[in-house]
Amino acid sequence: MSKPLVALLTGAGVSTDSGIPDYRGPDGLWRRDPDAEKLVTYEYYMSDPEIRRRSWRMRRASRALGAEPNAAHRAVVELERSGVPVRVITQNVDGLHQRAGMPDRKVLELHGSAHGVVCTRCHARGSMDDALARVDAGEDDPPCRECGGILKSATVMFGERLDPMVLGQAVAISKACQVFVAVGSSLQVQPAAGLAGVAADHGARLVIVNAEPTPYDELADEVVREPIGTALPRLLRDLRLRGLDGV
Ligand code: ZN
Repeated sequence: MSKPLVALLTGAGVSTDSGIPDYRGPDGLWRRDPDAEKLVTYEYYMSDPEIRRRSWRMRRASRALGAEPNAAHRAVVELERSGVPVRVITQNVDGLHQRAGMPDRKVLELHGSAHGVVCTRCHARGSMDDALARVDAGEDDPPCRECGGILKSATVMFGERLDPMVLGQAVAISKACQVFVAVGSSLQVQPAAGLAGVAADHGARLVIVNAEPTPYDELADEVVREPIGTALPRLLRDLRLRGLDGV
């Protein structure tokens, strides 16, 4: 690795300022309403048309909220534009890093993207906008146009495996980076959480920015508890000004 590299692992906490709820958090929807978890569980989704109809209604409602990037997303873009090699590994499916201006190829979406759809039978892909236009037009569970199979969002549901290619790239970045910043992630969902350990094992400086303690805090060189919207811009500005030599 000839160039210094900053890797950011971002979780739900990065998008809460954009109005996207942390479904898994202590007050998360999935804790309060176990039924809601079925909407994003592969087995239930595939076997129950009513679950699928509710899922499509939920997707339509969440699109209507029109989430915008926040200060944390913009701070990452600023760092990238300053010339520091940055890679984002995200557990979020909202696409807000890219909306804020991060190039697609520098963002790894571990849990897929809510902006796409994929056929569970022939694996044809399409856009969520197109699928939701069909829902708006009255199809309450739109099938794949290619094969008639069941369509789902291009996100990794409970009961589905992460894309091994994406995970392999995330591991490679974690091994190569000089600084690994885990932001807004409880670091409790594997294998994403383990990337923090991989980075630390390979000599990266590990920084954790999260409101709650995480299982990796003891391994970290720095733990920041302040709100992400102020903590991350400051942290990344310091990185930019001092360069990576000072870390
Ligand atoms: Zn299909």
